Formats: sequence, structure tokens, C-alpha cells
Amino acid sequence: MVMEHSLRYYSTNLNSEKVTFSQALLKGQAPDRGLYLPESVPLLSVETILGFTGKRYDEIAFEVARHYLAGEIEEDELRRIVIDAYDFEIPIQHVCARKFVMRLDQGPTASFKDFAARMMGRLMQYYLKQENKKLLILTATSGDTGSAVANAFYGLDNIELVVLFPRAEVTERQRKQMTTLGKNVRVLALDAKFDDCQSLVKQAFADPELETLGLSSANSINIGRLIPQIVYYFYAFSMLRMDNHPEKIIFSVPSGNFGDMMGGILAMKMGLPVRKLVIATNGNDEFPNFLYSGKYDKIEPSRNCISSAMNVGHPSNLARVVALNGGMMDERGIIHQPADMELLRKELFSVSISDQQTKDTICKAYQTYKLVLEPHGAVGWAGLMEYLKANPALDRDDQLCVSLETAHPAKFSEEIQRLLGIIPPLPKSLEGLDDKPENYGTLPNNYQDFKDYLLKEL
Ligand SMILES: *Cc1c(COP(=O)(O)O)cnc(C)c1O
Repeated sequence: MVMEHSLRYYSTNLNSEKVTFSQALLKGQAPDRGLYLPESVPLLSVETILGFTGKRYDEIAFEVARHYLAGEIEEDELRRIVIDAYDFEIPIQHVCARKFVMRLDQGPTASFKDFAARMMGRLMQYYLKQENKKLLILTATSGDTGSAVANAFYGLDNIELVVLFPRAEVTERQRKQMTTLGKNVRVLALDAKFDDCQSLVKQAFADPELETLGLSSANSINIGRLIPQIVYYFYAFSMLRMDNHPEKIIFSVPSGNFGDMMGGILAMKMGLPVRKLVIATNGNDEFPNFLYSGKYDKIEPSRNCISSAMNVGHPSNLARVVALNGGMMDERGIIHQPADMELLRKELFSVSISDQQTKDTICKAYQTYKLVLEPHGAVGWAGLMEYLKANPALDRDDQLCVSLETAHPAKFSEEIQRLLGIIPPLPKSLEGLDDKPENYGTLPNNYQDFKDYLLKEL
């Protein structure tokens, strides 16, 4: 049975036609360089949300996603996709009182990006097969996107993948997760920053001479990445809420390109009882500055911090945050219509966490609670602590708080060993990587070279 009432998706630059979900998914970015958003955010009833309690993760994923894909996929097909995508654990670790860390690090590449990439890959495959089309996915990565996407798309028919990464900004393990695959996965190292890689990819999308290649993106600018990231916010609430006790939850999200936090914002707008979303950034503090001043200054080049997957000086998804709150920001970060900053401040709290504070948090969490955090998760936890410090009335034992851990500590084992003197055990998914042969190319940070490569190789 096909579901009815299909939802349309508009571009945040307001200069492209509205499209269906499958069009938005396969295109990635809108032709006007804006980002797709649903015309209206589906609202779930309180009964539906409370009814998630006791359901499996994939069942909640189905319930959330079906509203965004309405009329565009068979229900049975969507059920199969979510069951197949979410075959791993999602531990919610108790820390103290009603404070928890949700570990989104048990997927095949041990980062939260598996959640989005696995579902997006399967959805793309479904629509490409239906339309008998091929896609060339270009993706820039600061480490975890590339490995999650490469792993999720590896071996899929109808899809070729090219991953660009900044050589100095990814760990050896992250690199090996991408470069040891082969088949339809091509990997390129650049002596540049993540933002430069991202910019080459964006230029390629806007280049009419590359149109015949059927380019698309797997970065968090793709709406297909965001929808799966709504689900774990609902899941956490379903697992932790108490019967007959209405309460609101505080989430803390370690953030870089803002895909993860967009999942949280959409969950909130869908009706999840969230008291506050804490947006914790590393030293790239453009967002906290924007939130409290209303003035946006991107950071160019972005700052290198130990939470390297969050070294983003101009978050791609910021245009969506602005759009969902009544404003308009273009892809360069220029504000054409200011957002409702009061509303934003009501929903969000944001704070920048320095590297020193990140390290102190890793040590303190371990000493106090035996909680092992890696640098990204530590930024999230530190952000939560900062929020509670700034709002002592909420710093109570009965306030439900969930901080997201976005990568497995073993992915950052050198840092953990230095700070804690322990070696985090390797998850199964990362075993055996060291022995596999690597295969990747190198490119200068130059658009013409990248373009020539694409035209020659693909
Ligand atoms: C990508 C990433 C983030 C940042 O997520 P965004 O959606 O880009 O904000 C945080 N932590 C880890 C480990 C990541 O890989």
C-alpha cells in the first residue's frame, strides 16, 4: 500500500521549484544552492509520542519517517529498510540522577553518522532502482561522514561514490575505514581543510559541465540524512520517560555541521517535549556568538580542535535553522531575512567548549562516574554542565537530561590513553582494519583538478 498526502520540499534560498522527497533525496542540494526542507513539519500527537514507549528502534524510525515519505514509498518497503539499517545496539548509559549519555557509536563505523548514512543509502538505492537511474555521490568529510557513507554505500548498485578528505584532519583509523573498501568507493586526500573540500564539492554541484555525471551529495545538506537523525531523540524519550509523569527533556548535542542538531530541532517541532536543546560547539564558536548577538560571522578558516569532526566554521545546516525560525540565510551565510532570535533562544542554548575544557571533562567524567567519553561526546557533556550551571533552577536530580556520544572512544584512543591511561576496547566493527591494504588518490586544493579527475575517472 502506498501512503497518500505527499509532502513537498522547498529550498531555503526560495528560488527553486518545490520537489517531492525522492527528488530532494536524489538531488541533495537545490539548484539555487539552497537546502531542502519540508513545507510543513509533521506534528505527532501526544498519544503517538507516548505510544513509542516499548517499541523497537526500527519501529519508531518507521513511524517518524513515514510522515516525511508519505505517498512515495510502500509501507512494507520502508519497514524493510529501517529493519535492515538498524541492526545494532543503541545503549543509553546512566550517569547520575536522571542524567544519561546516549551512545550512538555502535554502528559499523562507530560514529552516529551510521544512523543517517545507512538509511539514506537504502532509500537512494530504492528510488534509483525504481527510476532505473545512476548517481555519482560526492562527499566531503572531516572523517566520520566519509567512513559512514563509504561503508553504507559500499557495494550498492547504481551508485558511485567519491570522498574528499583533509589529510591532516582525519585519524588513521578514520582514513582506513574509507580507503580499505574499494569497489564503487573512490577516496581522495587533499592538503586542505574540511571547508575547502566542502567548497570543491559545492562548486562541482553548481557546474553545468558536470551535469551529465548525475551528481548528488551525501553530506548533511541532504534531507535524507536529516530525517533518520530525528529518530533517536524520540527513542531516548520513549526509553527514559516515566509513566504518569509529564516531563520535558534536555538534550545536549555536540555540533559541527548541525545535521545532528537539525534532527533535534525537527523532533521538537514534531511535538517531542524538549525543554532545551544544548548546542555544544568546540572552539568554532560562530553559532553561540550568532545566537546571542544576532550577528553572524563565519570562521574562515575553521579552527583545529581535538574534536576534529566538529571543526566547522560555517555550518551547512545553519540556513535550515534560520529558515525554520522565519528567516532566510543563503549558502554564503548572508542573512536576507532575520530569524526570530527570541524563539531560537527559547529553544536553544549554545556554548563553545575549549580543547582544555574538553580534556578536563574527559578526565572528570571518568574519575567521577567511570564514564568514558571521547572528545566529541565530552564537548556535549561539558555543554550540558554549562547549561545547568547557567540555569541552577534546572540543575535538579529529577530533571531528565541526555547528552549524545557521537563516536566510539576507540576511534580516539591516543587521546584517551594520554588522558586516562586506559585503552578503550575496540568494537567488533573496527577490528582487523590495520591489516587491510589502503587505496586512495591525492589532489591539490584546486577546483579544475578536481573537475578533470571526475571527468576522466567517471
Ligand atoms: C560529524 C560529527 C559530529 C558533528 O555532527 P554535525 O551533524 O555535523 O553537527 C559530532 N561528532 C562526531 C563524532 C561526528 O562525526
